[in-house]
Amino acid sequence: MELPDRDICYRALQSRDARFDGLLFVGVTSTGIYCRPICPARTAKLENCRFFGSAAAAQEAGFRPCLRCRPETAPDLASWRGTSNTVSRALALIADGALDGDGARVETLAERLGLGERQLRRLFLQHLGASPIAVAQTRRVLFAKQLIHETRIPMTEIALAAGFGSVRRFNEIFQDLFHRPPSALRRKNSAIPSGTEAGVTLRLRYRSPYDWNSMLAYLHARAIPGVEVVEKGRYLRTVEIAGFAGSVEVTHLPQRQSLGVTIRFPDVKSLPAIVTRVRRLFDLGADIETIDAHLSSDPLLAPLVAQRPGLRAPGGWDGFELAVRAVLGQQISVVAARRLAGQLVSLHGKSVPAGYVNHPGLSHVFPAAERLSSAESIGLAMPGTRQASLKALAAAAVADPNLFRPVGTMEDAIVRLRAIPGVGEWTAQYIALRAIREMDAFPASDIGVLRGAARLDGVRPTPAVLLDRAESWRPWRAYAAQHLWAVDAAAVINDGGAYG
Ligand SMILES: [Zn+2]
Repeated sequence: MELPDRDICYRALQSRDARFDGLLFVGVTSTGIYCRPICPARTAKLENCRFFGSAAAAQEAGFRPCLRCRPETAPDLASWRGTSNTVSRALALIADGALDGDGARVETLAERLGLGERQLRRLFLQHLGASPIAVAQTRRVLFAKQLIHETRIPMTEIALAAGFGSVRRFNEIFQDLFHRPPSALRRKNSAIPSGTEAGVTLRLRYRSPYDWNSMLAYLHARAIPGVEVVEKGRYLRTVEIAGFAGSVEVTHLPQRQSLGVTIRFPDVKSLPAIVTRVRRLFDLGADIETIDAHLSSDPLLAPLVAQRPGLRAPGGWDGFELAVRAVLGQQISVVAARRLAGQLVSLHGKSVPAGYVNHPGLSHVFPAAERLSSAESIGLAMPGTRQASLKALAAAAVADPNLFRPVGTMEDAIVRLRAIPGVGEWTAQYIALRAIREMDAFPASDIGVLRGAARLDGVRPTPAVLLDRAESWRPWRAYAAQHLWAVDAAAVINDGGAYG
């Protein structure tokens, strides 16, 4: 894989350069430990340093994570490195637990991605310097380590939460790596509250800059009554996974370049899935410096990037929920779409048990696909054809659990989505962008995107002209769209239909 040359890597290490955090790891041969470039420990001699582009590569080479700089708290940028969409998709599936558990096999993962096992291994080696199994293993170890350090969750539950399958396996692996049981790594810290009611609080790091205000404004404008609350600089929402319901609360910790996430949920096994969703919604994996620099090379976009450095492209919390929002938002304003979504929730959403929410505005979970597909009537005040598309969408989601997952190419995903009655090109691109996280998706016919472009040039382009212009924004057209939406939303106080 491509790393800067040794001298540059070493200089980054000597100066504890935060720009390399998450992109570079150093294994020290004299100690067997690997570190982030910002590690406060004394810098090792150059001849004892081995450089890696991912934690998994360092771990596969036999190094164990440092207890001081804690590689598990580096920004998780792996999915943005390199240019391989296949690797990004595979990482998203691994984060979803595709290689956890006894029955999990690389071959099955490769099949889901539409390629052979050997090809997948080769791509991983090329882009991450590690095998898929090592990536999944490292992910489990690092997540468990974070839970050990930042929470009071009992060790037996951490083993399950991190996807180890058994406590014995968890103990073995930690003993192997750290030469002591996992419990020995836990520091005594009375500041951490315990118990499910208080929730589990974790810090998730991002790469600076992060335009938190734009993110919150975006979420605030779309917050579904009963499901989401944006208040006092915080984002709160209800969560349903595997039949359990709870909530999350997200705050910004700018000094730590992190988000603070408090999860109140009855089932620890769902913790990784919840963290993955938070990362996706808040776009924490973006290598934003690289993206901003790329978009700034277009004189049209440069002033926008300068105005909103670190603007993120929000992801969908859940694929089905996002798709429903997209269908509800067809042809109507953000405000109207939000009201309809709130009605849908009060008609079909399950209520959340008290004790797992800490705000009166959080009452229901967003209705699952099964629920909507089996409902006799959707019951919303909207045209019959659009209610029928909601039903069709729910039926399609029930029939194909991978509908909103990054399976196959982006073109495949668009075709799959367009096969659903009522889902046209705009809706399909929008779902691909937000739910499947295709960072090159671009809804060129979106009214808000077109108006945003018009505010820069003075003339509103046709979708075809805009698509042409957007060629040079690849592979990050989704971020360009976000900038155009942002400039449009800032100009139009009463949003006239841009769903962005
Ligand atoms: Zn270190």
